[in-house]
Amino acid sequence: MKIKTRLSLYFTLISSGALLLVLVAVYIAVFSFFNADFYNRLQERTKLASQFYLKADELATDSLMQVQQKYLEKLPDEVIRIYDDYNLSAFNMKNHVYWTKEIIEQVRKEGVLEYEEGTRKVVGKYYHDNQGNYVILASAVDTNLSRRTVVLAKITGVLFVIFGTGLFFAGRVFAQKALSPVDKIISQISNIQASNLHLRVDEVNTKDEIAQLVNNFNRLLEHLQNAFELQQTFVANASHELRTPLTSIMGEVDVALNKKRNMAEYERVLHSIANDGGRLQETITSLMELAQVDLNYTRAALTPVRVDELIWELDEYWTNKKGPGLLKIQLANLPEDEELLTIPAHKSMLYIALNNIIDNAFKYSGSNPVVLNFKADATSIAIAVTDKGQGISKADIEKIYQPFFRVNTDKSVSGSGIGLYITSKIVELFKGRIYVASQPGEGSTFTVTFLK
Ligand code: ADP
Repeated sequence: MKIKTRLSLYFTLISSGALLLVLVAVYIAVFSFFNADFYNRLQERTKLASQFYLKADELATDSLMQVQQKYLEKLPDEVIRIYDDYNLSAFNMKNHVYWTKEIIEQVRKEGVLEYEEGTRKVVGKYYHDNQGNYVILASAVDTNLSRRTVVLAKITGVLFVIFGTGLFFAGRVFAQKALSPVDKIISQISNIQASNLHLRVDEVNTKDEIAQLVNNFNRLLEHLQNAFELQQTFVANASHELRTPLTSIMGEVDVALNKKRNMAEYERVLHSIANDGGRLQETITSLMELAQVDLNYTRAALTPVRVDELIWELDEYWTNKKGPGLLKIQLANLPEDEELLTIPAHKSMLYIALNNIIDNAFKYSGSNPVVLNFKADATSIAIAVTDKGQGISKADIEKIYQPFFRVNTDKSVSGSGIGLYITSKIVELFKGRIYVASQPGEGSTFTVTFLK
C-alpha cells in the first residue's frame, strides 16, 4: 500500500474515531436529557395534582376532573393517583388501587421515587402538609422518546458517514500535498546511474526531513562520484602516463643502437633516458599516491583531527626539508576551545592535501619563503598558503584541479599534474572548500576552509 493511502487511512481512522466518540457522547447526552425532561414533566404533573387535591374541598370532584382533562396538557396514557395515610386513593377513580402498598410505602420512605415500569415511567412524591400527608404517583408512556432517539440515531449516522468520507478525501489531499516532493525525488533518482553520477536531486526549500534526505543523498552522490572519478582517473591515466615515457625511452635506445655513435651522442641519449626515467618515476609515485588516496577514499573513517597540530607537523617536515624559517607559520588569535580547532577528517589524507599545496608553493616560487596562515573561529577553520612565485593565469586557475594538467610543460619544474587534483578530492571528502587567488608574476594564495 502506498504511503499516501496509508497516511490518509490512518488520518481517517483517527479522526473518524474521534468524531464517533463525539457523536456517541452527544447522542447519550441528548438521550439522557429527553429522559430527565420526561421525569420533570411527570413531576410537574404530581405538583399540579397536589394543588388540585388541596383545593378539592372547595371544588366538586367532577368539575376538578373536568378542568384537569380539558385544560391541562396530559401526558400519553397518563395515570395519577393520590394516596392518603391509609393508602386509599383520593377522588373516586376507576382502578382505585393502581400502585401496590409497597411502592406507596417506598415513596413515603424516600420522599421522591423515579423508576421505569416496562414502557412507562413513574414518579412518586410524598407531601407533608398542614392539611395532611399524602403520596402522589404519576406515570405515563414516553412515546416520543423512541421516535426521537431513532431520529437522533439516524442524524448522527448520516453525519458520521458524510464527515468520515470528507475526512478520508481531505486526508488524501493533505497526504498527496505533503508527499509530492517525494514523488519528484523518486523520478529524479531513477535517472541517476553510474554514467551520470554528476546529476543531483533538486534541493527543497523546506527545513524538514525531506530536505535532510535530499541533502544527505546529494552528499552521498558527491562522495560516490569522487570515489568513482578517482578510480576512473587512475585506470584511464595509468597506462597512458606510463607508456609515454617508456615509448620515448625505447625509441631513443632503438635509434642509438641503429649504428655506432660517438661518446657525445651516447651521452645525449643517456641524458634523455635519465630524463624520461625521472618522469616515469614521478608518474609512478603520483599514481601510487592516487591509488592510495583512492583506496582510503572509500574507506576513510572520519575521526577528529586537530588542525593546529597537523600544521606543526607540516612545519617540522618542511623545516627538515628546506631549512628553518622558509615555511612561515602565522596563527591568528586561535580560540582556547579545542573543539574549534578540530574537524572530522582522516589525518594522513589531510596531511597529503595540505602538503601538496605547500610543495607547489615552494616549487613554483623558486624556493622563496612560503607563508602559511591559520585561522579558526566558531564558524570555520581556514588554512591559507601564500607564495611569491610565478602565479597562475585566470584561464589556468579553472584547469589546475584536473588530473594530469600542468601549466608548465617545459619540465623546468618536476611534477605530474596530479597533486592539486588529489588535494581537491580530499578537501571535498572532508566537506571543505579550496580556492585560489593568484596574480601572474606576483604569487598565489591557496585557501582551504572547513565550515563548522
Ligand atoms: P604538479 O605540481 O605536479 O604539476 P599539481 O596538480 O600540483 O601538479 O598542479 C597543477 C598545476 O597547477 C601545476 O602544474 C602548476 O602549473 C599549477 N600550480 C599549482 N600550484 C601553483 C603555485 N603555487 N603557483 C603557480 N602555479 C601553480
